[in-house]
Amino acid sequence: MKVEILTVGTELLLGHIVDTNAAWLAGELAGSGVDCYHITTVGDHVDRIVEALSAALSRAEAVIVCGGLGPTHDDVTRDALAAVMKVALVRDDALVEKIRGMFVAKGRTMAASNARQADVPSGAMVIPQRIGTAPGLICPVESPTGSKVIYALPGVPSEMKEMALRAVFPELIRRRGSGSVIMSRVIRTWGLPESVLAEILAPRIRELDANAADSGNGMSPTLAFQASGIDGVKVRVTVKAADALSATILLDSEEEIVRGLLGDAVFGVDSVTMEIAVGAMLAEGGLTLGLAESVTGGLIASRIVATPGASTWFRGSVVAYGSGVKQDVLGISDGPVVKREAAREMAEAARRLFGAAIGLATTGVAGPDRQENVEVGTVHVGLSGPGEHTAVLSVQLPGDREQVRQLASISALDLLRRELISNSRHV
Ligand code: ATP
Repeated sequence: MKVEILTVGTELLLGHIVDTNAAWLAGELAGSGVDCYHITTVGDHVDRIVEALSAALSRAEAVIVCGGLGPTHDDVTRDALAAVMKVALVRDDALVEKIRGMFVAKGRTMAASNARQADVPSGAMVIPQRIGTAPGLICPVESPTGSKVIYALPGVPSEMKEMALRAVFPELIRRRGSGSVIMSRVIRTWGLPESVLAEILAPRIRELDANAADSGNGMSPTLAFQASGIDGVKVRVTVKAADALSATILLDSEEEIVRGLLGDAVFGVDSVTMEIAVGAMLAEGGLTLGLAESVTGGLIASRIVATPGASTWFRGSVVAYGSGVKQDVLGISDGPVVKREAAREMAEAARRLFGAAIGLATTGVAGPDRQENVEVGTVHVGLSGPGEHTAVLSVQLPGDREQVRQLASISALDLLRRELISNSRHV
C-alpha cells in the first residue's frame, strides 16, 4: 500500500519552521510497513493544495495532509478537500457547539471565525478533536484510479500525532490488510571517509540489489550512507519483512555482514554514541579514565558526563588551557605545548592526578589563528595506560574553531576505543 504525505503551510516554505510533522509521519508509516514514496509541501493556497492532493492521489491509495485546518482566512485545507472531492462544504452545527463548549470550558469566548472549523466537505467523516479545536477529517475520494482516501490532520504537532495514532494509523493498517513492517538500523562509523566506506560496501550493495530484483517483492535489505560531520558516517540498513521479529532477524544478520566488512570503524548502532561505546568498554574492563583537556576545553568531559552510568568509570578532567597551567598543574616540560610529547605528558599527568587506569589528553590549535607557529586544526591526542602502554595520535582537522574542537573530542575518544580493542585482543 502506498501513502503520501502533504504538509500545508507557507511558513514551512519560507523556512520559518522545520517540517517535523512529515518526518514523524514518515517514520510511523515505515514502522507500519506502508510505503511512502513522496512527501510534498505547499503553501496556504487552495489551488496549489488541490493540485498537490490530486497528484498524490494519482500515485497513492491514501494521502495524509496536515495543517491549514485552523480558523483563520489562510487556513484553506478544508476548501481544497471539498474541491478535490467535488462536493460542497457544509457547516456542522453540532460541531460548532462542541468547539464553543471547548472555549467555554477554558473560560473563554469562541470567536466567530472558529465556526469555520466546523465546515465539513459533504460525505467526509469527522475525527473528533481532543487537544486543540481543529477536528480532523476522513475524506473518501473517487478518482479515475479507484477509491482513495485523504486524512486531514491539524498542523500543531501534538494535535496531529494524537489524532494520527488514534484515528489514522489503525484505519490505514486495516485497509492495508495483512502486510509488512519496514525497520531501519543505523550503523555508526568513525575513521573512514564516506567514499572509502562506499567502496568497501559496493559489492554487498550490488548483491542486495540483485537479490531484490530476483525476488521481485522488494523484501531485500537496502544500505544507504549519511555523512554526519562530527558524528562520522552512518550506514542505514532498512529491511521490509512480514513482522517485527522477522525484520529484526534480517537487521541483525545484515548488521553482522556490514560489521564484518567495516571492522573497527563501526563503533555503535542507533543511539550508541562514541562516548557510550567507550564507556561500555571501560566499564566491562573495570577501567577508569582521567582527562587533561586543552584544545577541547572540557568538551570530552561534558560528552562523557551526559552518559548515564559514567560515574563508575570517569574520574574527572583538568581543563589545562594556558601553557602555564599545563606546566604548573600537570607538570609538563617547559617549551611549546602543541606537540606530541606534550600530549603524552599531559595524558600521563591526568592518569596520575586522578589515580585512573587510563589518562587521555588533547592539545592543539582550534583557530582562527596559528599558535606557536602551528597550523590551525593540528591536534595531538595523548593516551597513557592501561599498564605501561602509551600512544599519541596526531591529526589535521578541518573546519572552524567549533568543528575542530568537536572533531578533536571524538578523535580522542576514538583513539581510546581503538586502543581498548587492541588491548583486549592481546589479553
Ligand atoms: P490549528 O487550528 O490547531 O492551529 P492548523 O491545522 O491550522 O491547526 P497550522 O495553522 O497549519 O495548523 O499550524 C499551526 C502551527 O503548527 C504552526 O504555526 C506550527 O507551529 C505548527 N506546524 C504546522 N505544520 C507543521 C509541520 N509540518 N511541522 C511542524 N510544525 C508544524
